[in-house]
Amino acid sequence: MVIGAGQAGLSASYFLRHYGVEHVVLDGAPGPGGAWQHRWPSLRLGKVHGIHDLPDMPLGKPDASRPASEVVSEYFEAFELRNSVPVKRPVRVMAVRENGDGRLLVVTDKGEWVARAVVNATGTWERPFWPHYPGQASFAGRQLHTFDYNGPEEMTGKRVVVVGGGASATQALAEISLVGASTTWVTRQPPIWREGPFKEQDGRAAVALVDERVRAGLPPVSVVGVTGLGVTPDVAEARARGVMERLPMFDRVVPDGVTWDDGRHVRADVILWATGFRAALDHLRPLHLRAPGGGILMDGTRVVLDPRVHLVGYGPSASTVGATRAGRAAAREVRDLLAKRAVSAA
Ligand SMILES: Cc1cc2nc3c(=O)[nH]c(=O)nc-3n(C[C@H](O)[C@H](O)[C@H](O)COP(=O)(O)OP(=O)(O)OC[C@H]3O[C@@H](n4cnc5c(N)ncnc54)[C@H](O)[C@@H]3O)c2cc1C
Repeated sequence: MVIGAGQAGLSASYFLRHYGVEHVVLDGAPGPGGAWQHRWPSLRLGKVHGIHDLPDMPLGKPDASRPASEVVSEYFEAFELRNSVPVKRPVRVMAVRENGDGRLLVVTDKGEWVARAVVNATGTWERPFWPHYPGQASFAGRQLHTFDYNGPEEMTGKRVVVVGGGASATQALAEISLVGASTTWVTRQPPIWREGPFKEQDGRAAVALVDERVRAGLPPVSVVGVTGLGVTPDVAEARARGVMERLPMFDRVVPDGVTWDDGRHVRADVILWATGFRAALDHLRPLHLRAPGGGILMDGTRVVLDPRVHLVGYGPSASTVGATRAGRAAAREVRDLLAKRAVSAA
């Protein structure tokens, strides 16, 4: 069983079929595209870090001015059709439990399945992370997360505070600053810009760092986060306009804006929390997979505490390139696990 039909789940399904493992893919989304189908329309393909190819089906060179959500959804749909991916949607997995016979019981909003192994590929989109700051509830304006962001139009004429040091924050700042009355950027750490093109060795070093964390049972940090902030043309242009002058995190939210303990005050109509996402793994809670460090102890894609469970698109494989590779690794391990069980049952 594969849970989730984003890049990671589709790749896992492709390789499970390649290795002759019968399976089904349960996906909670309304249509193909994984998290990409939810991305805001102004996120054009030319603005994203890059979409890695799904197995044996190159994305090619689509029109970079089209919304990434449309391009990726069409690409995933074509992949599903071409490979007859056994996907069922919308089916939301609520819990994965012991079935009592060595198999796993997968409880969904459309009934129950029993599986010998689960490749979990549920991504992060459905778990937006909102940090807590004093006074947040007192704010008289609008607060929203990247999850709810629909593009700059709704910020026209507004004073906007953007919180967060990742690519979602810089992309939003670049476009909101063209229509808003003002923008203010606050981050916990000073930004580290990645000037020039993305280098393969930087990506590898970032993946190694996250891999080390999950092997120690610590919560992962985002791979995309440790590669530094890419300077896309629109971000470069916004930097030249002085939009990317960052302030340290404010100390509290007040009804008309945000304040710092040193007396600084910025008025705001909107606070955009571009503060990232966490792995959407609540449905695995009944399996008690968490290590004392708060993360899940991993060996590659395999959960150390339960080899029937693989996590793809998690930790070191939480990028489109990593997700595709992890799908293959998980499929191979599941094949080997089932073969071992078949031998010991004979
Ligand atoms: C704004 C933004 C921009 C990004 N840009 C890039 C980029 O340019 N390059 C890059 O490499 N990465 C980027 N990322 C990270 C990117 O999301 C991942 O690299 C990759 O797309 C995730 O693929 P996935 O298959 O792991 O998850 P997803 O694409 O999130 O797919 C998960 C699927 O699982 C389903 N699901 C979730 N929970 C359940 C459940 N309980 N039951 C059933 N189904 C469920 C979801 O509906 C979804 O269809 C970006 C992330 C964000 C937020």
